[in-house]
Amino acid sequence: MPKTKLTLSISKEILKGAKLAAEKRHIPVSRLVENFLEFFANPKIYCFKCGEKFSAADTKVCPKCGWLVCPRCGACGCGLSEDTATALFYMRKVYEDLLIGRVKQS
Ligand SMILES: [Zn+2]
Ligand SMILES: [Zn+2]
Repeated sequence: MPKTKLTLSISKEILKGAKLAAEKRHIPVSRLVENFLEFFANPKIYCFKCGEKFSAADTKVCPKCGWLVCPRCGACGCGLSEDTATALFYMRKVYEDLLIGRVKQS
């Protein structure tokens, strides 16, 4: 892919921490930003049941539970026990915090 320059103003402390962590893992910071922006524009997630990786944009939302419906096995939040649904809710919350919103806007 052709590259372009991006100028950002971000917190010094956050950048310092990110550079340290990136150096440890030998990942360029630009690759991290690129990775995140790609995820932000087109989130790809894994089905909690069958492990299928799918794009949120092309996936239906269940009208009953409001979860994405796996295109392979059809799993959504319906019929899950309360414990399982709670665990999945907080896992999903990690990337909703990262994306500053829902994975798919409905
Ligand atoms: Zn599935
Ligand atoms: Zn459902």
